[in-house]
Amino acid sequence: MNETKIMRKKKRALVDQSLCVACGCCAKVCPLGAIEIWKGITARVSDRCVGCGRCAAECPASVITIREVENL
Ligand code: SF4
Ligand code: SF4
Repeated sequence: MNETKIMRKKKRALVDQSLCVACGCCAKVCPLGAIEIWKGITARVSDRCVGCGRCAAECPASVITIREVENL
């Protein structure tokens, strides 16, 4: 029997880590605790992210975008 694979899309924050200044503003406003400041160098987004956009609105460097990604 063939299994039908259902590909669902979800929204997620993506950080341009080459431009992130690790200020932590995004992590402070995320309601799900989905962002960590990795080694004080850059923001990293976890799978908990639901793409609400709060972090992107707060980022002073405007390096966060909300994109649709495959939710496998
Ligand atoms: S708010 Fe922007 S610049 Fe600051 S840590 Fe988050 S992604 Fe980096
Ligand atoms: S988009 Fe929303 S849930 Fe995702 S990291 Fe930003 S604030 Fe958190």
